[in-house]
Amino acid sequence: MYERRKTRQIFVGKVPVGGDAPVTVQSMTITKTADVEGTLQQIYALAGAGCDIVRCTCNEAAAAEGLAQIVPRSPIPIIADIHHQYKMALAAMEAGVHGLRLNPGNIRRPEHIKAVAAEARDRNVSIRIGVNGGSLDPALYEKWGGIKPEAMVESAMQELRYFQEVDFDLVKISVKASSVPLMVEAYRQLSDVTDIPLHLGVTEAGPPPAGLLKATAGIATLLMEGIGDTIRYSLTADPVEEARAGRQLLEALGLRERKNVDLIACPSCGRAEIDVIDVAKRAMEAFGDRQIPLQVAVMGCVVNGPGEAREADIGIAAGNKRGHLFVKGRNVAVVAEDEMVEALVEWAEFIHEHGTEAAIARVDTAKAEREAAKDRAKLLDDKGDDVNHAGAKIVEIRKRAQA
Ligand code: SF4
Repeated sequence: MYERRKTRQIFVGKVPVGGDAPVTVQSMTITKTADVEGTLQQIYALAGAGCDIVRCTCNEAAAAEGLAQIVPRSPIPIIADIHHQYKMALAAMEAGVHGLRLNPGNIRRPEHIKAVAAEARDRNVSIRIGVNGGSLDPALYEKWGGIKPEAMVESAMQELRYFQEVDFDLVKISVKASSVPLMVEAYRQLSDVTDIPLHLGVTEAGPPPAGLLKATAGIATLLMEGIGDTIRYSLTADPVEEARAGRQLLEALGLRERKNVDLIACPSCGRAEIDVIDVAKRAMEAFGDRQIPLQVAVMGCVVNGPGEAREADIGIAAGNKRGHLFVKGRNVAVVAEDEMVEALVEWAEFIHEHGTEAAIARVDTAKAEREAAKDRAKLLDDKGDDVNHAGAKIVEIRKRAQA
């Protein structure tokens, strides 16, 4: 509907950004990244609300160590948010993140920026250069007489040169400000001078509804001019609201398709008890284009699946050759592994027709929970609790953080 400005395409994990890729939604977890289970639960909730890429803070070694455990279990790519310490960027890459966000205003030494860019190039990790009106380089502030769009664009282009010096081009840029007219003008000017993908946002927009309005005013204005490849609402609210707002804005502007069944699935990891890709694919086919606007989850293991996808309306997790069905995180029934897809469809139809409460009322949830606990305990006995080998990565991270 809107002619989008041509940008080059990069990838954050498997998600394309820029070029002819759909505009993507980003958000950020607000948990401590070292709290692995809490962060994963939030990531699953965000993915369910329409978030395509998620950012987690990486402000200390414990956060990087958390990332080593989160990345293999996240359904969407993870970007590490780096504050002042460039070493945390190196640690996050060691943990396997798909992208980094650097604020050049905070990491001022060119040799540090270049060291990060060189390693990102070797690991195929994308980087967002996040210029922020509030932390503009004092020299540019002086030169342009304040926080001006020109100063923000110059800051971005200056940083870009460091990346170009080490032949690194997996870059996207943001020039956020809390003032809508300022950010709109900065992005317009930036879009005139570069074809690098742009990440849009109004920073510190505040709590809804004012925050939602401010963010929408800035982001929607630019999207309707064809500017912007990925967006984030920065709200003082539950991040799920950010993701939902981003998704709804894109749907409202006709930039993303509205879904019927929203099927989410874990990416699989060392703990998976089934071929998650195959089961998710068969579930997709079984639901086809039925008008069932529920979120349905396919999870590889009963150890973490029901917790990670507890926001889903209905989900199934594998364990010990059985499928454990759960509704809003509550175990409700157990089926044979080869009946997982059929059971999922049957439960989704029932919930759609009669509601969640009625679905739960027809079964013995205590019995289902006992069965799930039994299989969970067996898997933990069989495989231990570090099937993703995060321990080895953590040792490396500690070494690098101390170097
Ligand atoms: S297999 Fe289990 S732990 Fe691994 S990503 Fe899937 S649900 Fe999470």
